[in-house]
Amino acid sequence: MSFVYGSVCGFEWEMREKGVGLIFIISAPSGTGKTTVVKRLMEQVSGLRFSVSYTTRLPRPGEKDGEDYDFVSHSVFKRMVEGKEFLEWAEVLGNCYGTPRPDLKKLESEGIDLILDIDTQGAKKALKEIDQPILIYLLPPSLKVLRERLMNRSADSLEMIKFRLSNARRDVDEAHWYHYVIINDRIEDAVEKLKSIIIAARCRRVKDRVLEENKKQWEEKDG
Ligand code: ADP
Ligand code: 5GP
Repeated sequence: MSFVYGSVCGFEWEMREKGVGLIFIISAPSGTGKTTVVKRLMEQVSGLRFSVSYTTRLPRPGEKDGEDYDFVSHSVFKRMVEGKEFLEWAEVLGNCYGTPRPDLKKLESEGIDLILDIDTQGAKKALKEIDQPILIYLLPPSLKVLRERLMNRSADSLEMIKFRLSNARRDVDEAHWYHYVIINDRIEDAVEKLKSIIIAARCRRVKDRVLEENKKQWEEKDG
């Protein structure tokens, strides 16, 4: 896939399959389908990297260490907190989760955008550390559907599912300060909307560069 960023004044200005150092923060009530949607997104959009968080929770069946999370003990996590290794960290549903500090300059120079899958507390903390992240909140179509998804995932006890649902009710109240809210009804639709947001944000970030490039071309051809 290649993104055409500008076709201003008749000059094609193309940027191939690259990110521009943007940070996208995606939050959702647990069980909404965030992991599923983000995995599909990563397959379809180039120049995107998933920030692998550290967690003290145990892996679910099928989850891979270093890919879904870096699974660590409480003592290792504590040491990392003390060493200020996290951009943010939070206790979510009884476990600790932390985002490693990204090297923003390196990401930009490598043409990478980063996706942070973090909860609403983490997003608030990250806002203080990162310049202009793009905040996206994913919603399930209803609480009933969320319950069904949690049941179908077969990863939690009934008690844990109840706990996740009561947290979801509170968590949704935080959605209003996000830039975008997407309902994950059909997966394909949610992925398309996320892709549109990413492309629009990239266009916005490179706006000045596009205009400068065009100006040079105007001067060369018509000057
Ligand atoms: P989260 O990462 O938000 O906790 P998951 O990605 O683990 O959620 O998804 C929870 C369950 O819902 C999984 O069984 C997944 O296959 C299913 N799921 C995700 N998105 C959809 C969707 N749009 N429609 C139906 N089922 C979905
Ligand atoms: P799960 O255990 O279902 O994978 O994730 C539970 C919750 O933890 C989700 O809301 C997820 O977004 C959040 N989470 C995952 N990684 C991080 C992180 O690094 N920091 C914070 N604050 N939350 C995280």
